[in-house]
Amino acid sequence: MTDADCIFCKIVAGEIPSTKVLETDRVLAFRDLYPKAPTHVLVIPKDHYANVAELAAADPALAGEVLRATSEVAAAEGVADSGWRLFANTGSDGGQDVFHVHFHVAGGKPLGRMLS
Ligand code: ADP
Repeated sequence: MTDADCIFCKIVAGEIPSTKVLETDRVLAFRDLYPKAPTHVLVIPKDHYANVAELAAADPALAGEVLRATSEVAAAEGVADSGWRLFANTGSDGGQDVFHVHFHVAGGKPLGRMLS
């Protein structure tokens, strides 16, 4: 399942370069091109779903695999003990720019409060 216009589908296909940090049959994690923290990795299902709701409804097992991969990335990046943040921007008010569901794994410095 791919979307021809989706940049993350192109990353999965190897048509756009990325720095991979974890890969399984169905999940890919790669460094954010514009990191906002010392550790900033994006974790995605290889199949194209627009957002968390679509992924969870269509394939809850895959949603679980993606979630488990986020923790594995945090551990591999060395931020599991110091703490890290997991977030998925959704829709326009949520600040989503790329409509292939992705979880941000961010850490490596105190991140402060997200909402205030
Ligand atoms: P936002 O830009 O508000 O964080 P998203 O939650 O949709 O919106 O996040 C998209 C993320 O994808 C951004 O953090 C952006 O830096 C990152 N990004 C965009 N293009 C690439 C790319 N080619 N490789 C890696 N990361 C990318």
